Amino acid sequence: MEQIEIFNSIKEIELKPLQEFCLNEIRQAFTRSKKIIFQAATGMGKTVIAAKIMESALNLGKKVVFIVDRIVLAHQTSDVLLRYGIKHGVIQAQNERFNIHRNLQICSIQTIKRRGCPKADLIIIDEAHVLFEAHKKIIQENPEAYVLGLTATPYSKGLGKYFDFHIQPVTVKQLIDNKYLVPFEIYGPSIADLTKLKIRVGEFTEESVADVFDKADIVGDVVKTWQSLTPGKKTIVFGANIAHIKHLVKSFQEIGVSAVQINAYQSDEEREAALKSFTEGDTKILCSVEVATKGFDCPAVECCVLAVATRSMIKWTQTTGRALRTCQGKDKATILDFGGNAERLGFPDDYEFLGLDDGNIRQSKKQEAKEKLPKACPSCDFIKPVGVHICPACGFAPERVKNVEVADGELKKLQRKERAEYTIEEKQNFLAQLNQYAEDHRMKRHIKGFYGAAIYAYQDKFGCRPSGKINWNAKAPVSEEVNKYMTYRLIKYSKGKAKQKQQAAA
Ligand SMILES: [Zn+2]
Repeated sequence: MEQIEIFNSIKEIELKPLQEFCLNEIRQAFTRSKKIIFQAATGMGKTVIAAKIMESALNLGKKVVFIVDRIVLAHQTSDVLLRYGIKHGVIQAQNERFNIHRNLQICSIQTIKRRGCPKADLIIIDEAHVLFEAHKKIIQENPEAYVLGLTATPYSKGLGKYFDFHIQPVTVKQLIDNKYLVPFEIYGPSIADLTKLKIRVGEFTEESVADVFDKADIVGDVVKTWQSLTPGKKTIVFGANIAHIKHLVKSFQEIGVSAVQINAYQSDEEREAALKSFTEGDTKILCSVEVATKGFDCPAVECCVLAVATRSMIKWTQTTGRALRTCQGKDKATILDFGGNAERLGFPDDYEFLGLDDGNIRQSKKQEAKEKLPKACPSCDFIKPVGVHICPACGFAPERVKNVEVADGELKKLQRKERAEYTIEEKQNFLAQLNQYAEDHRMKRHIKGFYGAAIYAYQDKFGCRPSGKINWNAKAPVSEEVNKYMTYRLIKYSKGKAKQKQQAAA
């Protein structure tokens, strides 16, 4: 009964409708269990929701501890609370906001590790998917306390040993639908040999990822693809390690694109300067190894590049999530996935989470099994959702292999060609755009006036050369689809040539 009261005296802080909904769900969950994981995507505003909960608990005279995983986050949270007039102390050496007598204490886990944790009625753990020994100790030392774990990715092994109830009141899809986040599209060009990746304890080893991706031609392809698909977009690029991200930076700079990198070993000043030039300045590219961007927030980021491969849903969700924040003038995010991650793990907003992992192996296995995964369009590498046949980006319809027929008690595979039906107007318009593209790019013209490259591209799409009913020389403004379609053809063509050269040299 007490837990209901905790939430009754909420005032002042303004919650948006979905945040209000989450708050009610948390309240409901606390009537069923005292140890709850609240899954909320970045962009949900979990700090504001938490502030509301803490305020209510304080009004009832309860003791509250809010635990963050880094000192800088303690300061950020403290600032938010001050804005709402919520009195609190910050437990940290030489912090001017240190006040142990306050009922709400903000602490970083590092500080708690050294000093121990104050007694509390309500413990809120930020980024709860990473539980240190100190966290576990606090939970054990406060058996009567309500514990609320906040995370966007509750997929860690063993999390279910410390929390027994998981809620995700609002999914990433719903956040996108309600404009708390922007929609995204993914391109998955296969430029690297992913068969060389090695797995250790469930994840690709850093060394093998670096071996595959930190090669001059692969780095060059990453930059080239970015330049053709998302030129000028504010972009975070994830690399395998420091050497790799430095190569990426150099490669971007070589084509005149401003780029910086952050890593865990540079000085604070150096890192802050790099971040500042990216978040506040004109720098287009921020390269990073995943860990260095924890808690980093730049809503203006429109593009996320993964020049890495991962098997971790946590990493996949967190990296791609960087591009989904809303920002003025931004209507979508683009993810360039060079690591086959979407095809391995599915869409970052479409993870079928079956519940907290309590360390039981069978459950982990079940969690990993994913029956249907999205696929890259063979023509433009756009990642198509499960069940989508015709590419939404370029219109390419791959040949289908289907219809398994039973004959004479044996299974026989029947190949049946299925092509999307296009009207003659659609075909004409497509060719006209190809011609315009060819002209814009000063491609070679046949003596009869048509563009060979346009005819080849047409043929690849429709399976035959344009008929006599179609005007081979017509032109029409180039749509984004055709632009991407052609860009990809060029990249593939140049890659094919490079391979031939390599083979010839070998
Ligand atoms: Zn396509």
